[in-house]
Amino acid sequence: MKPTLGLIFFPAFDWKISPTHPERQERLLYTRDQLLEEGVFNLPQIREYRPRLATLNDLERVHIGVPSIAKLITQAHLVSSGGCLTAADAVMKQEVKRAFALVRPPGHHAMRVVHGIRGFCTINIEAIMVEYLREHYGVRKIAVVDTDVHHGDGSQDIFYHDPDTLYISFHQDGRTLYPGTGFPNEAGSPAAYGTTINLPLLPTTGDEGLHRLFDGLIRPILDDFQPEIIINSAGQDNHFSDPLASMSVTAQGYARLADKLQADIAVLEGGYSVEAALPYVNTGIILAMAGVDYSHVVEPDQSLLRPQDPRCNKRVDELIDLQGQMWSNREKLRAAALSKCGPVWARDKSIYYDEEGIREHQEETAHYCDNCSGYLTIETEAQNTRFGDQDAYIVCLNRDTCSHCRSVAMDQALAAKRSGRWDYVLVQDKAHSRVEQI
Ligand SMILES: [Zn+2]
Ligand SMILES: [Zn+2]
Repeated sequence: MKPTLGLIFFPAFDWKISPTHPERQERLLYTRDQLLEEGVFNLPQIREYRPRLATLNDLERVHIGVPSIAKLITQAHLVSSGGCLTAADAVMKQEVKRAFALVRPPGHHAMRVVHGIRGFCTINIEAIMVEYLREHYGVRKIAVVDTDVHHGDGSQDIFYHDPDTLYISFHQDGRTLYPGTGFPNEAGSPAAYGTTINLPLLPTTGDEGLHRLFDGLIRPILDDFQPEIIINSAGQDNHFSDPLASMSVTAQGYARLADKLQADIAVLEGGYSVEAALPYVNTGIILAMAGVDYSHVVEPDQSLLRPQDPRCNKRVDELIDLQGQMWSNREKLRAAALSKCGPVWARDKSIYYDEEGIREHQEETAHYCDNCSGYLTIETEAQNTRFGDQDAYIVCLNRDTCSHCRSVAMDQALAAKRSGRWDYVLVQDKAHSRVEQI
C-alpha cells in the first residue's frame, strides 16, 4: 500500500527567540509524543521524511534581505523552509498524496523585503515553497488557505500582485489581535484584484462559525478558482485554549476542516497552547489528511471552551455575502482598477518588527506592461535594525518580465545607485533565483 501522507518534523532545538517565548521547541515535541502514543508513525498511510536544507537561491526567489537574506537567517531557517520543499517534492513526485511539514521557525508574517524578525518569522516558508513549485514543477495556479488565528500579513504582501496565487485567510479581527491587518478591502493590487481574500472573524468564533464560513464561501471559491495545488498555512491558534488569541475552535473542528479542505501540502504555522491543544489538533489534522478515522481525537480538558457569541455567525454571513460578491465581480473590478491607475500603481507601507523594534517605511510601485507581468520598485527605509538605520532601493524582476521592462528597470536601479541616496541598491531576478547588489 502506498502511503497517503508524508510527515516532515523539525523542532529546531537550537532556535528560539528567548527561553520563555511561546514560540519554542516544545510546540513540536508534545505533538510528537502524542503521535507516538497513538501509533501514528506505524500506520501504513504515513511515511516520515527528514527535512532537507533550502538554498539561498530558494530564499532569494521570494525575499530581498537588507543587507542580504544570508545575514538575517540562521541554519534553522534553511531547515524549516527546506522541510517545506521536502514536502513539495514528496507530493509532486507522487510518493505520497499529501504532505504536512511540522517545522519551525514559522513564516507567514515575513514579507517580501526583510530587515529582521516579525511575529516570530524571518522568511516566509510557504511563499518559498510556492516559488519552488513554479520553478521546478511549472505549477501555475496555487491556493494558499491560511487557517492561523493571526492575519498572514507577510503572505498577503508577497502574493498581493500575483493573480495566479489565491490567498485566503480567516483570522481573529485585526482590531482585536496582532498584526492588526486583514480586512476585506485588502483585496490585491489592481492586476491581482480579488485573489487576496480576508475574512476577519469575531472573538469566540468556534467550530460552527468556521464551518459555516468554509462551506458557504471558501469551498465554492476554491472550486471556482481550480488551483493545481492547495497549500494550508496550518496555524492551530484558533484553538479555545490558545494563550495568544480568543477563539473557540476545537481539535475536532480543525480536523473536520482539514478533511474538507483536502490540502495537498500543509505547513505548520502558529499554535501556542503547547500541551492542552497542539498535540490533539495536529494529530486530528494528520489523521484527516491521511484518510484515517479521527473521530476519537479530543482534547482532555475542555474547561476553557467558551460558547460562540451569537454575533459571530452574523459576521460570518456578512463575509459570505460581501466576499462572495467581490469574487463573482472580480474581473470587472480588476479591469476598473487597472484603467483607473494606468501604468503604475503605488502603495505606502509602515511595517513594525515587533521582535526587534524595527520601524520600516516602504513605498512599493508596480509597473505594468502589456507584454509581461511588469516589475516592482521598492524604496525602503528602516530604523533600529541589527545593522543600524538602513535604506535600500530595490527592483524585482519577474520570471516573465520582458526585455524592454528589464532594461527600463535596470536603468532605474542604476540611477538610484548614481544618486548616492541609498545604502543599498538591490536587484531581484526571479528568472535566476537570486538577488544582486549593484
Ligand atoms: Zn498565529
Ligand atoms: Zn514588459
